[in-house]
Amino acid sequence: MRWHLTMNRADRKAWRGATDLAGLGELTAQWLEGTRRSRPGYVPGYGPDPETTDTPGLVRALALANRAGFVTEASQPGTDGPDSRQDWWAQRASVSGFVADPQVLTRLSMVAEQYGLLCITHHPDSADPAHPHGVVATVVNGQEHTWFGAWMEPETVRLVWKGTGPLAVAAAGRAWQVSLIAPRSGPTRAVTGALFEAFADPAQARCVRCGCTEDDACQGGCWWVPGAAMEDVCSACAPDHFEEMAAGIGDGVAVGYPAGRDPGPIPPHPRFPAAGPDRDPITSNPEESSR
Ligand SMILES: [Zn+2]
Ligand SMILES: [Zn+2]
Repeated sequence: MRWHLTMNRADRKAWRGATDLAGLGELTAQWLEGTRRSRPGYVPGYGPDPETTDTPGLVRALALANRAGFVTEASQPGTDGPDSRQDWWAQRASVSGFVADPQVLTRLSMVAEQYGLLCITHHPDSADPAHPHGVVATVVNGQEHTWFGAWMEPETVRLVWKGTGPLAVAAAGRAWQVSLIAPRSGPTRAVTGALFEAFADPAQARCVRCGCTEDDACQGGCWWVPGAAMEDVCSACAPDHFEEMAAGIGDGVAVGYPAGRDPGPIPPHPRFPAAGPDRDPITSNPEESSR
């Protein structure tokens, strides 16, 4: 079997034809939804990671954001526990991307505050002085593994969007780089919740867990299930949703703690590393989200 590690002709043409951030956002949304095979910066012919597609609501939230002016470059769900090889992953739910419209930037920083997320923004003319190197977003067996919110140099931006139209690459280079990062590792709906809050039509009923709507139901169909709180939960999600509620996995607003309030000390996992000189610990100070 021959592996063709290049984009197919239709994808190459589509990405080269993008002339602005909106074009990159639409193509990224299509790649997330599985209707486009390749995306620059990823292995050609491969879609998003299973951790993205298997996390309820994440693809819907990211696609919505990409079509509304937040062109995402990377994201990860929150986890805290061993994988199948007994490696311990402590991962903060995070998303990062590019924003050209100041109104979109304002909306993202507002929902970040509302959902208790750290929001790091860099502009080509002014990097976020509080977080020049970003923060540690994943720790595996006590080793720092991924960072979110680091300033991307122009060469890195060009590399991320290699193969797209030059005007679109230039637009990404002039854009704000925005990251939303959960205050600590572990499952949470805060990132998807914040993206739905920022970009979804508030008049449209939407499942709080998977983000499905009447126009975009879950595979096989679903219906609304009456919940304890005034929230929309679909039948496909109801069993897991009520289990997660009991386990305290919420969006940080409706279930967890009031916006802007200190959720209280979270005991660090014994294998957490000490924070480096210019890295924030994975259990970061909730106060930093208000900066
Ligand atoms: Zn649902
Ligand atoms: Zn549903």
